[in-house]
Amino acid sequence: MPATSVKKRAPRTKSKADIAQTIKLMTEQYGPFNDEPRLPPMDEMVFTILSQHTSDINSSRAFRLLMERFGTLEAVAAAEIPDIEKAIAPGGLARIKAPRIKEVLNKVLELNDSLDLSFLREMPLNEAKAWLRQLPGIGPKSAGIVLSFSLGMPAMAIDTHIYRVSQRLGVIGPKVSADKAHDILEEKVEPGEVFNFHVSYINHGRQVCRAQRPKCPECVVGSLCPSRKKYMTKAELAELAAAEEPTLAGSSGAPMPHIPQA
Ligand code: SF4
Repeated sequence: MPATSVKKRAPRTKSKADIAQTIKLMTEQYGPFNDEPRLPPMDEMVFTILSQHTSDINSSRAFRLLMERFGTLEAVAAAEIPDIEKAIAPGGLARIKAPRIKEVLNKVLELNDSLDLSFLREMPLNEAKAWLRQLPGIGPKSAGIVLSFSLGMPAMAIDTHIYRVSQRLGVIGPKVSADKAHDILEEKVEPGEVFNFHVSYINHGRQVCRAQRPKCPECVVGSLCPSRKKYMTKAELAELAAAEEPTLAGSSGAPMPHIPQA
């Protein structure tokens, strides 16, 4: 008899309702979060470039030093690269970030005649994302941060923590790239919950669902997670199954990711 090939079915991903439940539980655990815009959009974009591969504290310091040195972003756009580099040096990777900042500022001036990006708020989300994505070095994550954190639009900004937690929870499939995850998650998360999703998933990834040795026994969404059996011993799983409670009490005061620190 000829061998029949059985096609493996892709693992099922979480429904919208299940995702909404994870956001609710994590927001109770880590929130409430303040979603007031902290910076105008162009400032947010420069801050986002400064925050690449460095801590929020270092990037906040670099942003403050940049503005103290030049006063306005128009002055930064006109400045010499070595002067920008000197100003942001305490934030790290200044040799890479200084030309990137100057280039993006000048591209915005060329396209828009101004560094005021508030017009993006009036655009449909996909057009606003495409406008930002044409800028040098601005990918889906940076565009999402500007649109979501500064302009209050329901854009996703998937960082390494959100990506890891989403995969482990089965919110996205195991083979979905981080870039592709942006569009998928914008479909699956209610627009009014995008900000809470972003901040709660980052907090969860930083505090509990860490890259190495996630703390599954104390995870607030553990009962919804298909991955926890990978990380827990049989004894821990049995103990948890006996004691599983639908929710855990919340706490607040968690740090706000991607927000400039004073
Ligand atoms: S149960 Fe473990 S792997 Fe799953 S989300 Fe929680 S910490 Fe992450």
